[in-house]
Amino acid sequence: MVDPAVAVLCAAFVVAAVLNLITAVVARRHRAATPAAGALAWAAASLTFWSAVGAPLNLPVPRAVHDVLVHASFVGILGAVVGLHLLARFASDPHFRPRRRHTAFLVGVPAAILLAVATDPWHHLVFSRISPLDRSPWFRVEFGPVFWVHTAWCYLVLGLAFRRLAVGWWRGSALLRRQLGTLLLAGLVPLGGNVAVLAGTDALAGRDLTPLFFTVTALLSAWALLSTRLLQVVPVARERVLETVQDVIVVVDAGGVVVDVNAAARRYLHLRRPDLPADPVGRPAHQFLTPRALGDLPADGLSYSVGYAHGLHLDIRVSALRDRRGRVLGRVVVGRDVTELVQARERLEEQVAVAEELRARLAEEAVRDPLTGLHNRRHFDPAAAALVAGAHRAPVGLLVLDVDHFKAVNDTHGHATGDRVLVEVAALLAGSARPGDLVARTGGEEFVLVLAGTDEEALAQRAEQVRAGCARLRVPVQGRAGDPPVRLTVSLGTAVAPRDGTDAAGLLAAADRALYAAKAAGRDRVVAAEGAGSPGR
Ligand code: GH3
Ligand code: MG
Ligand code: MG
Repeated sequence: MVDPAVAVLCAAFVVAAVLNLITAVVARRHRAATPAAGALAWAAASLTFWSAVGAPLNLPVPRAVHDVLVHASFVGILGAVVGLHLLARFASDPHFRPRRRHTAFLVGVPAAILLAVATDPWHHLVFSRISPLDRSPWFRVEFGPVFWVHTAWCYLVLGLAFRRLAVGWWRGSALLRRQLGTLLLAGLVPLGGNVAVLAGTDALAGRDLTPLFFTVTALLSAWALLSTRLLQVVPVARERVLETVQDVIVVVDAGGVVVDVNAAARRYLHLRRPDLPADPVGRPAHQFLTPRALGDLPADGLSYSVGYAHGLHLDIRVSALRDRRGRVLGRVVVGRDVTELVQARERLEEQVAVAEELRARLAEEAVRDPLTGLHNRRHFDPAAAALVAGAHRAPVGLLVLDVDHFKAVNDTHGHATGDRVLVEVAALLAGSARPGDLVARTGGEEFVLVLAGTDEEALAQRAEQVRAGCARLRVPVQGRAGDPPVRLTVSLGTAVAPRDGTDAAGLLAAADRALYAAKAAGRDRVVAAEGAGSPGR
């Protein structure tokens, strides 16, 4: 007749085995989503084995069966410890991948322990003695050195896992806090339970209840993984997408700590701060990002452009990261490399500037006479109209100048000398002009000077100065150094607005008539128009 308490205990182990089996199957189904699920599946499968082996140990079994089961349970124990360690590592660090030194520690040590367990009957280093208890069907087990090495290793591996979870939780990565908190809690259950068992109450008669505690761990872990959405926070598929996109993505938690970055961000942040470690995760965000990216956030986020190290340009977009209840968990900083766009824009701006300069030069050339550099008729007409339009405020004087017998200069001394005469006369006129005056070459050897704010008397004076100046000119004959220089005379007609005309055309016509009169009167003289619009001689 089996003791009811023993039956209950045995049933608990069977239930634990079943629960662990279910956990293992469910976790395995999700192993593609996160490596943490794979680790949990492994741990739960090991716990299934451990619980299954532990169940009959609660019953009065023959000595030989007892010994085989006790030794076999090591397979489950070691497997569970390795699985739970990896679960904690994967959950607390999405980028964790086991390296060679991990493999040696997590596979090499258990393999050596299992070898010692398998050969225990020959050396008794695992269990120094297993002896029947007086008047009871149970056995007293005494532990050898390998058992204590095994126990120490298990605590070390679980302790390291625990530390990872605690650090991950403490760093304040708000995204993971809930999940890691649950896993931490899950880890505390067997810790407390196992300490109680090792304290070894005789009531338990050396029975090991640890698999039952670990079953609670596995169930809580499965809950953390599957229902608190750890899978969605660290989903492998999404992580791959983030890793592949060209945009720089940095996730900063509410405490100002970088909690995630993609491959592009790692590259760019390293360019910006080559003096800091290449992996910014877990470090203060202000070391890598500008105060602007970490400053106050308007409700709809923040967008701006920055110049970056090595001549790069980034368009930055900062948005708040909120949980389902709208609480701010942190912020996401997304940067797009727009260097090529900016460079193309700069090239375009340069080209536009060159084109604008060219256009301005062409526009200027279009209103200049190439020989003398004076303004031409195209500029003169509107400019003169504007000046004469101001004549109601103050009189405007206009004089027309024509070189006398210029054709003879060409004929006698050659066209080049004629050109030189035109250049000298133009220079004299330009030199006599004051700011605000208008000087232009309006025909072959004909020039016009418009003088704002000049009355009849002043105009006559200026005209006479010009005439006398031209008479003093001595222009060297081009190509014939020995010839005496050319002397010339000019005739001038003057008119004053508003007396002789109220618009530029009228004034010019009046001055032209006066010029004609000057020519007719024998040249080398100044003749003034004869009053408002009156015809000349
Ligand atoms: P007048 O005293 O009556 O003004 O006689 P003129 O010989 O000066 O006048 P006319 O109109 O008969 O001759 C003007 C000459 O100016 C004719 C033309 O060949 C010459 N000419 C016009 N433009 C230029 C130029 O740019 N350079 C040179 N060298 N000669 C020019
Ligand atoms: Mg002429
Ligand atoms: Mg002439």
